[in-house]
Amino acid sequence: MKVFAGGVATETNTFSPMPTGMRDYLVVRPGDEVEQGTMTAFDQFESCTIARGWDYVFGLYAWAQPAGVTTRVTYESLRDELLERLQEALPVDIVLLGLHGAMVADGYDDCETDIIERVRQIVGPEVKIGVELDLHCDVTQSMIDTADAIVLYKEYPHTDVANRAADLFKIVADAAEGKTKPTMALFDCRMIGLYLTPNQPLRGLVDELLIMEGNDGLLSVSLVHCFPWGDVPTCGAQSLAITDGDPVQAARVAEEVGRRFFAMRHELDQVPWSIDEALDQALTATSGPVVIADRADNAGGGAPSDSTFMLRAMLGRGIENAGVAMIWDPIAVQTAISGGVGADLDIRLGGKMGKMSGDPLDLRVKVAGVVEDMFQEWPQQGDPMRIPCGDSVCLHCNGVDIVVSSRRVQPFSPDVYTNFGIDVASKRILVVKSSQHFFAGYAPIASEIIYMAAPGAVAPRYTEIPFQRVDLHKYPWVDDPFA
Ligand SMILES: [Zn+2]
Repeated sequence: MKVFAGGVATETNTFSPMPTGMRDYLVVRPGDEVEQGTMTAFDQFESCTIARGWDYVFGLYAWAQPAGVTTRVTYESLRDELLERLQEALPVDIVLLGLHGAMVADGYDDCETDIIERVRQIVGPEVKIGVELDLHCDVTQSMIDTADAIVLYKEYPHTDVANRAADLFKIVADAAEGKTKPTMALFDCRMIGLYLTPNQPLRGLVDELLIMEGNDGLLSVSLVHCFPWGDVPTCGAQSLAITDGDPVQAARVAEEVGRRFFAMRHELDQVPWSIDEALDQALTATSGPVVIADRADNAGGGAPSDSTFMLRAMLGRGIENAGVAMIWDPIAVQTAISGGVGADLDIRLGGKMGKMSGDPLDLRVKVAGVVEDMFQEWPQQGDPMRIPCGDSVCLHCNGVDIVVSSRRVQPFSPDVYTNFGIDVASKRILVVKSSQHFFAGYAPIASEIIYMAAPGAVAPRYTEIPFQRVDLHKYPWVDDPFA
């Protein structure tokens, strides 16, 4: 057997002020050296292929940090390069795609459906197509009709990318060998939100899905969480089941699981706190650090990560022994590096990318640390992922350590503080501009975690998201859209 693998992936926040262009994509071609963890799914596809003694051909993988809509020329050129490499690799028996599921480009509401349909046109009806998606995705009926198997991450934070790649490989490989006939069905859960899998009751449901898989002809069950900041008609949570040749069972399982997911909606609702509520609560804590997630400015959801609302409030209230990470401001980083460690500077910080970032802060700061070409390690099942932050600095201002990066990226681990010698355990408050990916790294050190809704491009209150194109006969706009 011969397996071809590749993908083009990003998560598109259609409300973000920043376009996603070719310079924003990390493009990996055969033979390229990349940082550990960049190719998690493909490394797994490759090792599974080799373990079966089959041939593996890697085509191309392009990934961009979430931001606004990808430009048409960027998407089409990356897609066409992937498809050309597939064409060159023919004949193949299996195509494995590592995609995201919430990628939007100019002229393409759903890049994944476009890619899967074009792959099918190239390989014909017999070749097995397997797709791994981020759970923050929208799955379309055409994807179900065109691919043979689609498997989503089950964990948010996404610590199971490699495990799900292995699941997908097995389903598709067994199908290619004629042992199974994967059949997929979707169920529309009629809700939009962000759902955290470490927390009950969702933890219990995800654990149950893992136990159900592989029994009674059920090959896979995924919860499609949706990506709430993509204003495309298909936005919404679903469930997806794959059975061995039994479409009725697939539809039944998808509906059963989907209705259970829906029934949890009130418990899954997190009512994020305002800035003042979050700070009031944090200040009552008798031990630290209280970790406050500034979800609205999460770079991983497409936000600029340069908003100043929270930092302004902290400085205004005279809060000390605190940290904020990370503000994306390459100009401030450059200025601080020029001044050098120990320099006292007047600096204009953040608030540059638009109204959703607030106004810049004019601050007197001391340059407390400089780390050129900084990395952070994100805990994962298997090896940690090494994530670049670019040249970064720590600025000290009235008792607040402000970490500023020259790459727009969310804090995945306390490394973003400890790289500067900051003792995170002794801090009273640590602010992280992240929705949930901070969790695996910060939960072990946090005395408490608070989810906050400041203004921003990733508005955490779903009913405040300015949707134009989504049918909002869904929870939380309607309490019971099935009624
Ligand atoms: Zn995701």
